[in-house]
Amino acid sequence: MNTPTLALDVGGTKLAAALVDTAGRVLRSTRRRTPAVGVWDEVSAMLRDVRGSAPIRGIGISCVGPIDLMAGTVSPVNITEWMRFPLRDRVAALVGDLPVALANDGVCMALGEQRHGARGGSPYLFGVVVSTGVGGGLVAGGRPVLGRSGNAGHVGHVVVEPGGDPCGCGGRGCLETVTSGPHLVRWARQRGWAGDDAAALATSARAGDAVARRAFRRGGLALGRALASVAAVCDVDLIVLGGGVAEAAELLLDPTREALAEHARLEFLRSARVVPASLGSAGGLVGAAALLDA
Ligand SMILES: [Zn+2]
Repeated sequence: MNTPTLALDVGGTKLAAALVDTAGRVLRSTRRRTPAVGVWDEVSAMLRDVRGSAPIRGIGISCVGPIDLMAGTVSPVNITEWMRFPLRDRVAALVGDLPVALANDGVCMALGEQRHGARGGSPYLFGVVVSTGVGGGLVAGGRPVLGRSGNAGHVGHVVVEPGGDPCGCGGRGCLETVTSGPHLVRWARQRGWAGDDAAALATSARAGDAVARRAFRRGGLALGRALASVAAVCDVDLIVLGGGVAEAAELLLDPTREALAEHARLEFLRSARVVPASLGSAGGLVGAAALLDA
């Protein structure tokens, strides 16, 4: 029996819905930009469209945090009309008695890579998503670690520069203020680079632009330092790097690996590897579907 799961991936800039089978294959999917208003109307229409009349065994939801698993609510920073929005109940009302599972996007990415990625499936894996922000999620013993409120894995708020730039969370010097796409771009622009976004920054870096190359190197070194701490606390042996900015893989991966090797010195840490994500933008959907078996 391979009845598919309906999967939903809510991001700050894009929405995605799909039918995913139990082998992690995306059978049918749809993707839209996250609208400024009317997000729930868009999400519910996408779920109806992609499901059609197909039988499903339940719904898995990946949502950018913060979330509140006890209440089933979500408060994504980039979706201002969703403050403590009851996403789990709204989705459940669409499907009657079927199971509905919700987790933050970092956990879903990590679980998708652990269950269905091409990179080895270690049961002790940390997934990092570098895009508009920096998120993450932990799988330990083959199971997703959600935390008390559903927010475990928020690696973007590990402090890498005490007294550094202000962060959207209210703190200072968080990893997100160094390595996220908008902050890489801002740092480069302050030093004379003239482009607009992280994709253009990656193009410049590949073309040899010195400021662009330094921006990625600085971001990767900070990421590697944070991941050395994550690996020490969580005892993982595989770290999977995904998200739009991380698709500039070699630019970020090389300095990340360099800093991890420099700081992760204890014997149990030396086998920790950093690899690029293998499921790309489908990782959140595949992981959301896998929540039903977690
Ligand atoms: Zn922060």
